Amino acid sequence: MSASLTPRRNEPVVAIVGAGMGGISAGVLLRRAGIGSFTIYESAERVGGTWWHNRYPGAEVDVDSYVYSFPFARHDWSRTHARQPELHAYLEGVVTDHGLIPHLRLGTGVTRAVWDDDLAGYHLTLSSGETAFCNVLISGVGFLNVPNLPDWPGLADFTGPCFHTARWEPQHDLTGKRVAVVGTGSTASQVVPALQPLVGEVVVFQREPGWVIPKGDRDYTAEERRKLRSPLVHLVRRAKWYWATEKRLWGGATYRPGSPVNQMAERAGRAYLAKVFADRPDLAEACTPSYPFWGKRPIYSSDYYPALTQPNVTLVPKAVRSVTARGVVDADGTEHPVDVLVLATGFQPVNYLAHLAVVGRDGRTLHDHWAGEPRAFLGMTVPGFPNFFMLYGPGTNLAHGGSLIFQSECQVRYVMDALRRTLTGGHRVIEVRPEPAAEYRERYRNEIAQMVWAHPSVTHTHFKNSRGEIWTASPWPVPTYWAWTRSVDPTDFTVA
Ligand code: NAP
Repeated sequence: MSASLTPRRNEPVVAIVGAGMGGISAGVLLRRAGIGSFTIYESAERVGGTWWHNRYPGAEVDVDSYVYSFPFARHDWSRTHARQPELHAYLEGVVTDHGLIPHLRLGTGVTRAVWDDDLAGYHLTLSSGETAFCNVLISGVGFLNVPNLPDWPGLADFTGPCFHTARWEPQHDLTGKRVAVVGTGSTASQVVPALQPLVGEVVVFQREPGWVIPKGDRDYTAEERRKLRSPLVHLVRRAKWYWATEKRLWGGATYRPGSPVNQMAERAGRAYLAKVFADRPDLAEACTPSYPFWGKRPIYSSDYYPALTQPNVTLVPKAVRSVTARGVVDADGTEHPVDVLVLATGFQPVNYLAHLAVVGRDGRTLHDHWAGEPRAFLGMTVPGFPNFFMLYGPGTNLAHGGSLIFQSECQVRYVMDALRRTLTGGHRVIEVRPEPAAEYRERYRNEIAQMVWAHPSVTHTHFKNSRGEIWTASPWPVPTYWAWTRSVDPTDFTVA
């Protein structure tokens, strides 16, 4: 991309919503492109998005640290899988080092954006009650940002502390307490081993088990860190990691239920269960999923299963029916007395842009346009919503556990290319044409229907909407997505 997109006096005003990894990356690349007129609105008091909100004990990344950093800000990670404090400090460092502080509006969300044809931009309503204007709107809010809060009968009557993992309440002393953890997804698999040595008892409520892959997390040795500081070693390691992760998606066989490679993965999952629970056949049985391997995003953890075998941990392999003042009642009607209730119940991924109403050219909101089917061309842009781009939008979640950083990098570069083409052509508005968007939607539907995530045996999954359709996960390997997003195909867009 050219060093400068446009002379400064013609600069578009850009609003980025969200100061998580996507928003930060967009800010850095805008600055590098010579666009200084941008603001990053962040509803939280600190930057970091997911790595700020998720401060529960044990929070750490579950892909290798050296792939989990921006290419423009390599980092000397202390562990194979960095923990939340290190990740958050890294992101704050990037914001400072790359000159984003003057562009930040912390504690200020964007709640509404209304397109104005005459002004070629969006009128913004901010959570502070103020209004603002931008020509280009970039959503970096991601999609694992709205906690899924259950509505069990009696929940409001619980007398002890009760909170979601993404809103951890550190003020409570959990020493010696009986703590219920509801949920057994990626988050719970980190919370449970972290709580087990600290608390009196952990009672884990499991509605449906997930497949677990041991992660092998540990501190890097000094020698490993020294080696990884070499840009070449770093590059080769990353390339190897991407190859190992992404080759699973080539041809899709790994994710096709019943295929030999899918069954091979399942055998490995069962072997791990048998090994770790050799002395606990009850746990082996309770933790064995009834859906094919990869049916949901796998849980990467080496210490979750071992934690379940500890004497102060009880697995209740049942859903929650209700809550009482002092306990949790399981689906069979048994009440389990607890002092603290931790909701590791995940998020509302299909509820894209839950807190941002975007009103397009015809006066309709994006949510009305979607009608429960969140979709976007390349996961980023929608006909009728000019100059609007989503990072980590519909259909771009990496269900197989790939690195979102690279995926997000592809998206940010694509958005920058779209802006460059618009501005250098002397235009102010860019909008994806309905035909390529419809074609992309069909291609997505056909592809996703063949993936294991869509298998009818996978019932409880945050990938599916209430109609059982998947609009969240990407069925394509990241290199394919990279190839599609390397540059904007002008025939896909209209400019004005
Ligand atoms: P999740 O995978 O959606 O898991 C939520 C858990 O809560 C599931 O076990 C679910 O049971 C259970 N649950 C939800 N509602 C329930 C209800 N009403 N009653 C009983 N159980 C209920 O959420 P998550 O663990 O927070 O992970 C979400 C995503 O965040 C992951 O897929 C991953 O992409 C990401 N993540 C990443 C990391 C990392 O290290 N990078 C760490 C954590 C999370 P069912 O299985 O029966 O639905």
